[in-house]
Amino acid sequence: MLGKLTGFDDTIVAVATAPGLGAIAVIRLSGSQAFDITNSLFPSKDLLLQASHTLHFGGIIADGRIIDEVVVSLYKGPRSYTGEDVIEISCHGSPYIQQQIIDAVTKAGARLAKPGEFTQRAFLNGKLDLTQAESVADLIASNSAASHQTAMQQMRGGFSKELHLLREQLITFSALIELELDFSQEDVEFADRTRLYELVTAANTTIRHLIDSFRMGNVIKNGVNTAIVGKPNAGKSTLLNTLLNENRAIVSDIAGTTRDTIEEVLNIEGILFRLIDTAGIRESNDTIESIGVQKTMEKIKEAGVVVYLFDVNENSAEDLQQQIDSFQADNINFLLVGNKTDIAGESAIQEKFSKIQGILFISAKNHAHVDDLKQALVQKVLSGDINTEDTIITNARHHSALQEVLKSLHDVSNGMDNGVPGDLLALDIRRALHFLGEITGEVTNEDRLDYIFSKFCIGK
Ligand code: GDP
Repeated sequence: MLGKLTGFDDTIVAVATAPGLGAIAVIRLSGSQAFDITNSLFPSKDLLLQASHTLHFGGIIADGRIIDEVVVSLYKGPRSYTGEDVIEISCHGSPYIQQQIIDAVTKAGARLAKPGEFTQRAFLNGKLDLTQAESVADLIASNSAASHQTAMQQMRGGFSKELHLLREQLITFSALIELELDFSQEDVEFADRTRLYELVTAANTTIRHLIDSFRMGNVIKNGVNTAIVGKPNAGKSTLLNTLLNENRAIVSDIAGTTRDTIEEVLNIEGILFRLIDTAGIRESNDTIESIGVQKTMEKIKEAGVVVYLFDVNENSAEDLQQQIDSFQADNINFLLVGNKTDIAGESAIQEKFSKIQGILFISAKNHAHVDDLKQALVQKVLSGDINTEDTIITNARHHSALQEVLKSLHDVSNGMDNGVPGDLLALDIRRALHFLGEITGEVTNEDRLDYIFSKFCIGK
């Protein structure tokens, strides 16, 4: 079945570097013909006689014409990225040269690779499990320190280790149950129920932890929508400029950035805060409570976190309390930020708002306590008991499979509580194992694999 997935007989080729003009481009071949094909275009040396993991300089010649002078890197399978024979041709970066070399290589017998096909082969050859393969795509797309760290950790097998632990727990459980089934006539409980409970509880805890990490994984991978709102003249533009001066993230290549709704992106401690355009609120002359701009309110509700900025000199504690009540009624995750503390002095202001908990006092204009605000923003999205060092789920496919695992485990615990027979418990455990296997790729089907790898870029 595996052979059919990619047609392992053929040799694939693609440009591995970013499209367009660059100093150097890398063209990568993988497959049983990789060495023969390159050799036929590289007269300076017989590549078939060279050791693996060596570099060779020479010309690429096609139809009697030199296309470029290149460096060829040799990786003999299985000690290569895909597990097959791999050759990387580093040529000059002109798109014309890249195209000429690709043409020559395909004429000599290679076929253009589909997106993700190199990594797919690596997976099918057992070089990576599926979570590691997927993290290759994440790694390429990572755009902040935090998303890079989680992708890197996954690629090196962090997540897979936890899943193997989970699998072992479940397999021990089912072994105990099945042992009991073998001796059912004897009416003995081999599988000590207390031990079974312990195993299911341990597995449950592991999974819950992973499932909970998804919220944060999502934040790390995709950033968090953030709205800075408040009455006119509260100081929103001033604050925004202060933040942007220090923390503006490069947005052009952040996946999923919708230009019309996202104004700017801040990178604070590796987390991307996508500032939602709430121009409606900023330009309105009404107070925030009376803004009829439905759309803007909807945007606020979409935000992962809302920074409510108010002028401490103009607002009363009662006003503020009303605003808090309305945020709470709408289930909005908000941060209260009192601005312009420089005018009346911090202590007088703190006295004025002493009844209200959790206000951050800043002066946007003087940059006072703006760092505290950044810290508070990070805390707001990272709250919970998840540590960035832990394994973090960033992939929706893994998340939904883990939820299925959790459901199956619930059935197991319920089953034990209700004294259902061992063979039924074993079925539920097998279901849990099945969904775990889907995550790592031990249980999978062709369509699903094709789908997963099709989301990669070509050349990976
Ligand atoms: P927005 O309407 O909420 O965007 O408010 P702006 O950022 O345009 O600020 C309104 C006015 O308040 C401007 O004149 C700012 O210079 C001023 N302002 C903003 N922050 C502070 C502050 O911390 N202290 C003082 N004294 N003035 C501020």
